[in-house]
Amino acid sequence: MGHRHTSTDAVTATDERRDVARVGIVGAGQLARMTVQAAIGLAVPIRLLADRATDSAALVSPDVRLGAPDDPAALAALAAGCDVVTFDHELVDAEILARLEAAGHTVRPGAGVVALVQDKRRQRAALAAAGCPNPAWQALDGADPERDLVAFGEAHGWPVVAKAARGGYDGRGVWVLGDPDAARALLAGPIGAGTPLMAEAFVPIAREIAVVVARRPGGEVVAYPAVETVQVDGICRELRIPAPLSPSLVVEAERLALSVAEAIGVVGLLAVELFVTHGDAAGEGGEDGGRLVVNELASRPHNSGHWTIEGARTSQFAQHLRAVLDWPLGPTAPTAPAVVTVNVLGAAGASGDPAARVGAALAVPGVQVHLYGKAARPGRKLGHVTALGDDPDEVADRARRAAAVLAGE
Ligand code: ADP
Repeated sequence: MGHRHTSTDAVTATDERRDVARVGIVGAGQLARMTVQAAIGLAVPIRLLADRATDSAALVSPDVRLGAPDDPAALAALAAGCDVVTFDHELVDAEILARLEAAGHTVRPGAGVVALVQDKRRQRAALAAAGCPNPAWQALDGADPERDLVAFGEAHGWPVVAKAARGGYDGRGVWVLGDPDAARALLAGPIGAGTPLMAEAFVPIAREIAVVVARRPGGEVVAYPAVETVQVDGICRELRIPAPLSPSLVVEAERLALSVAEAIGVVGLLAVELFVTHGDAAGEGGEDGGRLVVNELASRPHNSGHWTIEGARTSQFAQHLRAVLDWPLGPTAPTAPAVVTVNVLGAAGASGDPAARVGAALAVPGVQVHLYGKAARPGRKLGHVTALGDDPDEVADRARRAAAVLAGE
């Protein structure tokens, strides 16, 4: 006979269910929001550390603590109440995380990986150590950054790319400089003081791709298929699967991503953004002679993985939870021959809330809509639309039409 409920059985509150691991997420943006959604079916309790009660994930979560991601007390309280701490963004003080680890808390990915991914110079050094292809690069942290930047341009050819080593996103913090005057103007301006900078050789980019991988603490890893990330003005507009690459570049991109995950010992998701270069005359490398160069890393769910919610056998958000909880990883194969995701960006001049246009967007057949509950601002990522099918262009057309309706274009 099984256990019989009696009147003395307590209703088990979430706070008391210590046999079920609770995941704490630092940050409450759209990545946390979609992770919360994935956690529901897995019955994983999530506690968020949100800056504001109006943050994208805080709007839809029952267990939210308000606090800054760089407040040691807020992080310590999150870690104390959760079995695993993970992240919606990497703007967290890695030294605080290291102290939490030293105190016995489980932080995934660990403090060392967070310190690495939050600094593009450390990423470059780690990629080089792992044998991955970097562009030529240099930290601009000497006594005379202007002289070093101009010398870098003279040595590697103009244009050069200057980057803020920390804190950039959506292309903010990336400057393509055509000549020494542009380099001097940048450093004479407001970003010259205080921003840790680096220089990179300009890569002739044919297309940009990303490979999302997931890794468990014991080392089990899986990779999602490479996705083309179509960028406009430094912002990702579309994801296309399969990425239009030669089979050899697909294999190489996956191999690179898995080797980075291994080399840095990430736990959870790792998104590896790569450039495919224009082919050289010798026709070496993959399609049209293109080669792969790693751009940057993110150790969390990533915009380039949003297509996996409907387009892959396991969504990246469920996969991240499985990895940080050290559960078996899920299959990564696509669910259709062609998958396209289009980001919904705030449009200049658009009025009203995109949520008011969902019904109209769904008039486009077969599209799946995700809105993040964020206030519309021009260029801001407000949601995304995914479509599946057989023909990449037909699928892209549907996803674009629905995204345009949502954006109010
Ligand atoms: P963010 O961290 O803001 O996403 P990225 O480092 O990804 O910035 O750079 C934004 C965009 O700038 C890239 O998607 C790419 O189009 C361009 N870019 C970055 N680095 C280089 C480079 N070395 N050569 C040419 N273009 C680059």
